[in-house]
Amino acid sequence: MRILIIEDEKKVASFIKRGLEQESYAVDVCDDGVEGQHYAEVNEYDAIILDIMLPKKGGLEVLKDLKSGGVKAPVLLLTARDTVEDRVKGLNIGADDYLTKPFAFEELLARLRVLMRRGVSGTPVLKFADLSLDPATRRAKRGEVDVELTVKEYALLEYLLRNPNRVLTRTLIAEHVWDQTFDSETNVVDVYINHLRSKIDTKDFSKKLIHTVRGVGYVLKEE
Ligand code: CA
Repeated sequence: MRILIIEDEKKVASFIKRGLEQESYAVDVCDDGVEGQHYAEVNEYDAIILDIMLPKKGGLEVLKDLKSGGVKAPVLLLTARDTVEDRVKGLNIGADDYLTKPFAFEELLARLRVLMRRGVSGTPVLKFADLSLDPATRRAKRGEVDVELTVKEYALLEYLLRNPNRVLTRTLIAEHVWDQTFDSETNVVDVYINHLRSKIDTKDFSKKLIHTVRGVGYVLKEE
C-alpha cells in the first residue's frame, strides 16, 4: 500500500514516514500544496495524509481540487488548529477523517487502517485459498505453515491479497509497493515475486497461487 504525506513540518512528516515504512507501506512526502496535489494526481495512492496549513496552496484548497478532479484515494486531514470550523469545512469538501496535532502514531495508523477498509476493531485477516495474512500481527500462513516475510515481501503479498484474480502489471505493483524513488527499469518486482514464491508457492503445496502472465505481470489465483 502506498501513501502520500503532504506536510511542510519536516519533523512531523519524517515521524509519520518512518512509522509507516516500518509497517511496510511505501511512502512519498511533499512539503507544499502544489507539489502534493501534483503527486496525488499523477500517482495512484491508497491513502493521502494532508496537512491543512501548507505553503503555496492550503490543504483545504488542495482537497477541493483533488475531489473535483476525481482522485479517489481516501484523505486524512491533519490540523494544528483545533477549530471546529476547519474540520467541518474539510469533511464537507470530502475529507474522510481528520486528526488534530499532536497525535500518537498509533492513532494515525488506526485511522488509516479504517480508511483503507481494514476495519475498526478486530482487523480482518486477508485470505485467499489456504493463504492468509493478518495485518494486525503481520503473520502470514499457507495452510498451517507460518511464513516469515521481510517488509517488502509483506507489502507485496498484501497487495496481491487485496486484488485476487486480477492481473497486476509490474507498473501497478511497483506503484503500490514501492515509493517514488523506485527505478522502473530494474527487475525488482520480478525478484521480489520470486522471493515470495520461494516462501508461499514451494513444492510442499499442491496448488500454485502466484501465476505469471507473460509479458504483462502477475495474478493471484487458483488454477
Ligand atoms: Ca503545516
